[in-house]
Amino acid sequence: MKWGTLLIHNGHEADPVTGALGVPIVQTSTFDQGDLSVPREFDYARSGNPTRKALEEIIAALEGGERGAAFGSGIAAVASVLGTLSAGDHVVTAEDIYGGSWRILNTFYRRWGLECTAVDASDPDTIRRALRPATKALFLESPSNPLLKITDLKACIAIAREAGIISVVDNTFMTPYLQRPLDLGADVVIHSATKFLGGHSDVVLGLAVSRTAELGRAIYAVQNSFGAIPGPWDVWLVMRGIKTLKVRMDAQQASAGRIARWLREHKKVKAVFYPGLPDHAGREIHEAQAAGPGAVLSFKTDTAEDARRFLSRVEYAAAAVSLGGVETIASYPVKMSHAAMPQAERLRLGITDTLIRISVGLEDAEDLIADFDRALG
Ligand SMILES: *Cc1c(COP(=O)(O)O)cnc(C)c1O
Repeated sequence: MKWGTLLIHNGHEADPVTGALGVPIVQTSTFDQGDLSVPREFDYARSGNPTRKALEEIIAALEGGERGAAFGSGIAAVASVLGTLSAGDHVVTAEDIYGGSWRILNTFYRRWGLECTAVDASDPDTIRRALRPATKALFLESPSNPLLKITDLKACIAIAREAGIISVVDNTFMTPYLQRPLDLGADVVIHSATKFLGGHSDVVLGLAVSRTAELGRAIYAVQNSFGAIPGPWDVWLVMRGIKTLKVRMDAQQASAGRIARWLREHKKVKAVFYPGLPDHAGREIHEAQAAGPGAVLSFKTDTAEDARRFLSRVEYAAAAVSLGGVETIASYPVKMSHAAMPQAERLRLGITDTLIRISVGLEDAEDLIADFDRALG
Protein backbone atom coordinates (compact mmCIF):
# COMPACT_ATOMS: atom_id res chain seq x y z
CA MET A 1 0.00 0.00 0.00
CA LYS A 2 1.30 3.46 -0.85
CA TRP A 3 1.14 6.48 1.44
CA GLY A 4 -2.00 8.18 0.13
CA THR A 5 -3.95 4.95 0.63
CA LEU A 6 -2.28 4.08 3.93
CA LEU A 7 -3.28 7.42 5.46
CA ILE A 8 -6.95 6.82 4.67
CA HIS A 9 -7.19 3.03 5.07
CA ASN A 10 -5.55 3.05 8.46
CA GLY A 11 -7.64 0.38 10.19
CA HIS A 12 -10.02 3.02 11.56
CA GLU A 13 -11.76 4.10 8.36
CA ALA A 14 -15.25 3.11 9.53
CA ASP A 15 -16.69 2.78 13.04
CA PRO A 16 -17.66 -0.91 13.48
CA VAL A 17 -20.80 0.01 15.49
CA THR A 18 -22.38 2.78 13.37
CA GLY A 19 -20.40 2.70 10.13
CA ALA A 20 -19.45 6.36 10.62
CA LEU A 21 -16.49 7.35 8.42
CA GLY A 22 -14.54 8.66 11.32
CA VAL A 23 -13.53 7.58 14.80
CA PRO A 24 -16.21 8.56 17.36
CA ILE A 25 -15.20 11.17 19.93
CA VAL A 26 -15.73 9.32 23.19
CA GLN A 27 -16.12 12.13 25.70
CA THR A 28 -16.12 10.39 29.05
CA SER A 29 -13.91 10.17 32.10
CA THR A 30 -15.12 6.76 33.23
CA PHE A 31 -16.63 3.57 31.84
CA ASP A 32 -19.45 1.49 33.35
CA GLN A 33 -17.87 -1.80 34.38
CA GLY A 34 -21.23 -3.61 34.30
CA ASP A 35 -20.86 -7.12 35.58
CA LEU A 36 -17.60 -6.85 37.56
CA SER A 37 -16.66 -10.47 36.89
CA VAL A 38 -15.72 -9.64 33.26
CA PRO A 39 -12.90 -7.07 33.02
CA ARG A 40 -13.51 -4.40 30.39
CA GLU A 41 -10.86 -2.86 28.14
CA PHE A 42 -11.51 0.69 29.35
CA ASP A 43 -12.12 1.75 32.93
CA TYR A 44 -10.86 5.32 33.37
CA ALA A 45 -9.92 7.76 30.61
CA ARG A 46 -6.45 8.65 31.90
CA SER A 47 -5.55 4.97 31.54
CA GLY A 48 -7.25 4.56 28.17
CA ASN A 49 -9.84 6.05 25.85
CA PRO A 50 -11.05 4.52 22.55
CA THR A 51 -10.56 7.73 20.55
CA ARG A 52 -7.01 8.09 21.83
CA LYS A 53 -6.34 4.40 21.26
CA ALA A 54 -7.24 4.80 17.57
CA LEU A 55 -4.65 7.58 17.09
CA GLU A 56 -2.06 5.58 19.03
CA GLU A 57 -2.60 2.63 16.70
CA ILE A 58 -2.50 4.84 13.61
CA ILE A 59 0.82 6.52 14.47
CA ALA A 60 2.37 3.17 15.50
CA ALA A 61 1.46 1.73 12.09
CA LEU A 62 2.71 4.80 10.18
CA GLU A 63 6.08 4.76 11.99
CA GLY A 64 6.37 0.97 11.76
CA GLY A 65 6.54 0.57 15.55
CA GLU A 66 5.05 -1.77 18.13
CA ARG A 67 3.09 0.69 20.26
CA GLY A 68 2.03 4.34 20.12
CA ALA A 69 1.20 6.74 22.95
CA ALA A 70 -0.49 10.14 22.73
CA PHE A 71 0.22 13.08 25.02
CA GLY A 72 -1.11 16.55 25.70
CA SER A 73 1.79 18.18 23.80
CA GLY A 74 5.01 17.31 22.01
CA ILE A 75 6.93 18.31 25.10
CA ALA A 76 4.72 16.07 27.25
CA ALA A 77 5.74 13.22 24.91
CA VAL A 78 9.44 14.14 25.33
CA ALA A 79 9.04 14.44 29.13
CA SER A 80 7.20 11.14 29.37
CA VAL A 81 9.74 9.22 27.27
CA LEU A 82 12.56 10.70 29.41
CA GLY A 83 10.45 9.72 32.42
CA THR A 84 11.28 6.07 31.71
CA LEU A 85 14.88 6.88 32.81
CA SER A 86 16.07 7.09 36.42
CA ALA A 87 18.10 9.39 38.66
CA GLY A 88 21.81 8.87 37.97
CA ASP A 89 21.22 8.00 34.31
CA HIS A 90 22.97 10.06 31.61
CA VAL A 91 21.58 11.19 28.24
CA VAL A 92 23.54 12.33 25.17
CA THR A 93 21.69 14.81 22.95
CA ALA A 94 22.39 16.71 19.77
CA GLU A 95 23.23 20.32 20.71
CA ASP A 96 20.53 21.79 18.48
CA ILE A 97 17.52 19.75 19.60
CA TYR A 98 14.23 21.61 20.08
CA GLY A 99 14.63 24.31 22.76
CA GLY A 100 11.87 22.90 24.95
CA SER A 101 13.52 19.47 24.95
CA TRP A 102 16.83 21.08 25.91
CA ARG A 103 15.10 23.02 28.69
CA ILE A 104 13.35 20.06 30.29
CA LEU A 105 16.59 18.06 30.29
CA ASN A 106 18.74 20.88 31.65
CA THR A 107 16.34 22.27 34.26
CA PHE A 108 13.59 19.90 35.37
CA TYR A 109 15.26 16.54 34.86
CA ARG A 110 18.64 17.79 36.04
CA ARG A 111 17.00 18.55 39.41
CA TRP A 112 15.75 14.97 39.44
CA GLY A 113 19.24 13.60 38.92
CA LEU A 114 19.30 12.94 35.17
CA GLU A 115 22.59 14.06 33.61
CA CYS A 116 22.84 15.30 30.06
CA THR A 117 25.64 16.10 27.56
CA ALA A 118 24.99 17.97 24.30
CA VAL A 119 27.22 17.18 21.30
CA ASP A 120 27.51 18.21 17.65
CA ALA A 121 25.78 15.13 16.24
CA SER A 122 26.69 16.07 12.65
CA ASP A 123 29.98 14.39 13.68
CA PRO A 124 28.92 10.97 15.07
CA ASP A 125 32.30 10.51 16.79
CA THR A 126 31.34 13.22 19.30
CA ILE A 127 28.61 10.84 20.52
CA ARG A 128 31.09 8.03 21.11
CA ARG A 129 33.30 10.41 23.12
CA ALA A 130 30.37 11.57 25.29
CA LEU A 131 29.30 8.06 26.33
CA ARG A 132 29.70 7.14 30.02
CA PRO A 133 28.95 3.94 31.92
CA ALA A 134 25.71 5.60 33.11
CA THR A 135 24.58 6.66 29.61
CA LYS A 136 21.15 5.21 28.89
CA ALA A 137 19.81 7.18 25.92
CA LEU A 138 20.75 9.14 22.82
CA PHE A 139 18.36 11.91 21.75
CA LEU A 140 18.48 13.15 18.13
CA GLU A 141 16.62 15.33 15.65
CA SER A 142 17.25 15.64 11.89
CA PRO A 143 16.97 18.05 10.16
CA SER A 144 17.56 20.38 13.10
CA ASN A 145 15.95 23.67 13.94
CA PRO A 146 16.47 26.40 12.73
CA LEU A 147 19.49 25.69 10.47
CA LEU A 148 18.28 22.35 9.06
CA LYS A 149 21.52 20.65 10.04
CA ILE A 150 21.59 17.00 9.01
CA THR A 151 22.50 14.18 11.37
CA ASP A 152 23.46 10.77 10.01
CA LEU A 153 20.75 8.95 11.98
CA LYS A 154 21.86 5.46 10.96
CA ALA A 155 25.48 6.05 12.00
CA CYS A 156 24.50 7.68 15.31
CA ILE A 157 21.91 5.01 16.12
CA ALA A 158 24.50 2.31 15.40
CA ILE A 159 26.79 3.86 18.03
CA ALA A 160 23.92 3.77 20.53
CA ARG A 161 23.17 0.12 19.72
CA GLU A 162 26.79 -0.83 20.14
CA ALA A 163 26.79 0.86 23.55
CA GLY A 164 23.55 -0.91 24.53
CA ILE A 165 21.57 2.31 25.01
CA ILE A 166 18.29 3.40 23.45
CA SER A 167 18.07 6.02 20.72
CA VAL A 168 15.19 8.47 20.57
CA VAL A 169 14.49 10.56 17.46
CA ASP A 170 12.24 13.62 17.34
CA ASN A 171 10.72 13.25 13.86
CA THR A 172 8.47 16.34 13.97
CA PHE A 173 10.01 18.12 10.94
CA MET A 174 9.78 15.10 8.63
CA THR A 175 6.74 13.02 9.74
CA PRO A 176 6.68 9.28 8.95
CA TYR A 177 5.72 10.12 5.36
CA LEU A 178 9.23 11.47 4.72
CA GLN A 179 11.38 9.72 7.33
CA ARG A 180 10.95 6.60 9.47
CA PRO A 181 13.60 6.53 12.22
CA LEU A 182 12.55 3.08 13.48
CA ASP A 183 13.52 1.67 10.07
CA LEU A 184 16.95 3.25 10.64
CA GLY A 185 17.27 1.38 13.93
CA ALA A 186 15.90 3.92 16.45
CA ASP A 187 14.02 2.66 19.52
CA VAL A 188 11.57 5.53 20.06
CA VAL A 189 10.16 8.19 17.73
CA ILE A 190 8.63 11.37 19.11
CA HIS A 191 6.34 13.89 17.41
CA SER A 192 4.95 17.26 18.13
CA ALA A 193 1.70 16.48 16.27
CA THR A 194 0.99 20.20 16.78
CA LYS A 195 3.03 20.69 13.60
CA PHE A 196 2.69 18.70 10.33
CA LEU A 197 0.58 15.79 11.60
CA GLY A 198 -2.19 18.05 12.92
CA GLY A 199 -1.28 20.42 10.13
CA HIS A 200 -3.81 23.21 10.68
CA SER A 201 -2.37 25.23 13.61
CA ASP A 202 -5.42 24.37 15.69
CA VAL A 203 -4.28 21.75 18.18
CA VAL A 204 -1.38 20.98 20.56
CA LEU A 205 -0.59 17.27 20.90
CA GLY A 206 2.36 14.88 21.18
CA LEU A 207 3.05 11.29 20.17
CA ALA A 208 5.64 8.62 20.92
CA VAL A 209 6.11 5.29 19.16
CA SER A 210 8.31 2.49 20.48
CA ARG A 211 10.05 -0.28 18.60
CA THR A 212 9.46 -2.96 21.23
CA ALA A 213 6.52 -4.00 23.41
CA GLU A 214 8.78 -3.65 26.46
CA LEU A 215 9.57 0.00 25.74
CA GLY A 216 5.90 0.50 24.90
CA ARG A 217 4.92 -0.76 28.36
CA ALA A 218 7.51 1.50 30.02
CA ILE A 219 6.17 4.56 28.17
CA TYR A 220 2.58 3.54 28.92
CA ALA A 221 3.43 3.30 32.63
CA VAL A 222 4.64 6.94 32.54
CA GLN A 223 1.66 8.04 30.43
CA ASN A 224 -0.69 6.56 33.02
CA SER A 225 1.33 7.81 36.03
CA PHE A 226 2.17 11.34 34.81
CA GLY A 227 -1.22 11.61 33.14
CA ALA A 228 -0.07 14.07 30.46
CA ILE A 229 -2.79 12.80 28.11
CA PRO A 230 -4.69 14.63 25.35
CA GLY A 231 -8.46 14.94 25.31
CA PRO A 232 -10.50 13.06 22.68
CA TRP A 233 -11.39 16.18 20.66
CA ASP A 234 -7.74 17.11 20.15
CA VAL A 235 -6.96 13.50 19.28
CA TRP A 236 -9.74 13.57 16.69
CA LEU A 237 -8.35 16.77 15.10
CA VAL A 238 -4.95 15.12 14.69
CA MET A 239 -6.54 12.01 13.11
CA ARG A 240 -8.33 14.28 10.66
CA GLY A 241 -5.08 16.11 9.91
CA ILE A 242 -3.18 12.88 9.26
CA LYS A 243 -5.61 11.91 6.47
CA THR A 244 -4.32 14.79 4.32
CA LEU A 245 -0.66 14.58 5.38
CA LYS A 246 0.60 13.41 1.99
CA VAL A 247 -1.14 16.04 -0.15
CA ARG A 248 -0.24 18.80 2.27
CA MET A 249 3.39 17.76 2.58
CA ASP A 250 3.78 17.25 -1.19
CA ALA A 251 2.39 20.72 -1.96
CA GLN A 252 4.18 22.53 0.88
CA GLN A 253 7.46 20.81 0.08
CA ALA A 254 7.20 21.70 -3.63
CA SER A 255 6.62 25.36 -2.73
CA ALA A 256 9.46 25.29 -0.18
CA GLY A 257 11.83 24.07 -2.91
CA ARG A 258 10.77 26.85 -5.28
CA ILE A 259 11.08 29.49 -2.57
CA ALA A 260 14.49 28.20 -1.44
CA ARG A 261 15.84 28.36 -5.01
CA TRP A 262 14.35 31.83 -5.51
CA LEU A 263 15.73 33.14 -2.21
CA ARG A 264 19.20 31.94 -3.14
CA GLU A 265 19.24 34.26 -6.15
CA HIS A 266 17.95 37.28 -4.21
CA LYS A 267 20.55 40.02 -3.71
CA LYS A 268 19.41 40.78 -0.13
CA VAL A 269 19.79 37.12 0.91
CA LYS A 270 23.18 35.88 2.09
CA ALA A 271 22.50 32.22 2.74
CA VAL A 272 19.65 29.72 2.43
CA PHE A 273 19.36 26.55 4.51
CA TYR A 274 17.17 23.84 3.00
CA PRO A 275 17.98 20.12 2.62
CA GLY A 276 16.63 20.22 -0.96
CA LEU A 277 19.36 22.59 -2.19
CA PRO A 278 22.23 20.81 -3.99
CA ASP A 279 24.93 22.36 -1.80
CA HIS A 280 23.18 21.95 1.57
CA ALA A 281 25.63 20.33 4.01
CA GLY A 282 24.70 16.69 4.56
CA ARG A 283 22.27 16.61 1.65
CA GLU A 284 23.41 13.14 0.55
CA ILE A 285 22.95 11.75 4.04
CA HIS A 286 19.51 13.33 4.20
CA GLU A 287 18.53 11.84 0.85
CA ALA A 288 19.64 8.41 2.03
CA GLN A 289 17.48 8.54 5.16
CA ALA A 290 14.47 10.64 4.10
CA ALA A 291 12.10 10.72 1.13
CA GLY A 292 12.11 14.51 0.77
CA PRO A 293 13.50 17.78 2.12
CA GLY A 294 10.31 18.88 3.90
CA ALA A 295 8.65 22.28 4.05
CA VAL A 296 10.81 24.22 6.51
CA LEU A 297 13.72 26.40 5.39
CA SER A 298 15.69 29.29 6.83
CA PHE A 299 17.69 32.13 5.35
CA LYS A 300 19.98 34.96 6.37
CA THR A 301 19.56 38.52 5.21
CA ASP A 302 22.41 41.00 4.88
CA THR A 303 21.63 42.92 8.03
CA ALA A 304 19.45 42.54 11.13
CA GLU A 305 17.52 45.58 9.91
CA ASP A 306 16.68 43.71 6.68
CA ALA A 307 15.40 40.73 8.68
CA ARG A 308 13.21 42.84 10.95
CA ARG A 309 11.87 44.80 7.96
CA PHE A 310 11.01 41.55 6.19
CA LEU A 311 9.08 40.29 9.21
CA SER A 312 7.10 43.48 9.62
CA ARG A 313 6.32 43.85 5.91
CA VAL A 314 5.53 40.29 4.92
CA GLU A 315 1.78 39.79 4.41
CA TYR A 316 1.14 36.12 3.66
CA ALA A 317 3.36 34.80 6.43
CA ALA A 318 2.39 35.17 10.08
CA ALA A 319 5.31 36.38 12.20
CA ALA A 320 4.93 33.60 14.73
CA VAL A 321 6.42 30.53 16.34
CA SER A 322 5.41 27.00 15.34
CA LEU A 323 5.44 25.33 11.93
CA GLY A 324 3.82 22.67 9.82
CA GLY A 325 0.43 24.33 9.39
CA VAL A 326 -1.43 25.16 6.18
CA GLU A 327 -0.51 28.81 6.84
CA THR A 328 2.99 30.05 6.03
CA ILE A 329 4.80 31.14 9.19
CA ALA A 330 7.94 33.27 9.43
CA SER A 331 9.81 33.04 12.72
CA TYR A 332 12.70 35.03 14.08
CA PRO A 333 14.70 32.52 16.15
CA VAL A 334 16.77 35.07 18.13
CA LYS A 335 13.59 36.62 19.54
CA MET A 336 11.45 33.48 19.59
CA SER A 337 12.59 29.85 19.82
CA HIS A 338 16.17 30.68 20.83
CA ALA A 339 15.61 33.87 22.86
CA ALA A 340 16.54 32.09 26.09
CA MET A 341 19.87 30.86 24.72
CA PRO A 342 22.95 32.91 25.75
CA GLN A 343 24.09 35.07 22.82
CA ALA A 344 27.59 33.54 22.65
CA GLU A 345 26.08 30.06 22.38
CA ARG A 346 23.60 31.25 19.75
CA LEU A 347 26.36 32.78 17.63
CA ARG A 348 28.50 29.66 17.97
CA LEU A 349 25.59 27.69 16.48
CA GLY A 350 25.11 30.26 13.68
CA ILE A 351 21.77 31.58 14.97
CA THR A 352 22.27 35.26 14.16
CA ASP A 353 19.91 38.26 14.21
CA THR A 354 19.78 38.04 10.40
CA LEU A 355 18.24 34.55 10.44
CA ILE A 356 14.59 33.94 9.51
CA ARG A 357 12.89 30.55 9.49
CA ILE A 358 10.00 29.89 7.13
CA SER A 359 7.46 27.09 7.42
CA VAL A 360 5.91 27.07 3.97
CA GLY A 361 2.13 26.62 3.92
CA LEU A 362 -0.44 25.88 1.25
CA GLU A 363 -0.66 29.35 -0.31
CA ASP A 364 0.38 29.50 -3.98
CA ALA A 365 4.16 29.72 -4.31
CA GLU A 366 3.87 32.60 -6.84
CA ASP A 367 1.99 34.70 -4.29
CA LEU A 368 4.46 33.87 -1.52
CA ILE A 369 7.43 34.73 -3.75
CA ALA A 370 5.88 38.06 -4.82
CA ASP A 371 5.11 38.85 -1.19
CA PHE A 372 8.62 37.93 0.01
CA ASP A 373 10.11 40.02 -2.80
CA ARG A 374 8.12 43.06 -1.66
CA ALA A 375 9.02 42.42 1.98
CA LEU A 376 12.76 42.11 1.23
CA GLY A 377 12.50 45.47 -0.56
C1 LIG B 1 7.16 22.11 18.55
C2 LIG B 1 8.19 21.07 18.73
C3 LIG B 1 8.25 20.31 19.91
C4 LIG B 1 7.34 20.56 21.08
O1 LIG B 1 6.01 20.25 20.80
P1 LIG B 1 4.76 20.98 21.47
O2 LIG B 1 3.61 20.32 20.83
O3 LIG B 1 4.91 22.44 21.20
O4 LIG B 1 4.84 20.71 22.94
C5 LIG B 1 9.19 19.30 19.99
N1 LIG B 1 10.07 19.09 18.98
C6 LIG B 1 10.05 19.81 17.85
C7 LIG B 1 11.04 19.50 16.76
C8 LIG B 1 9.12 20.82 17.68
O5 LIG B 1 9.12 21.55 16.55
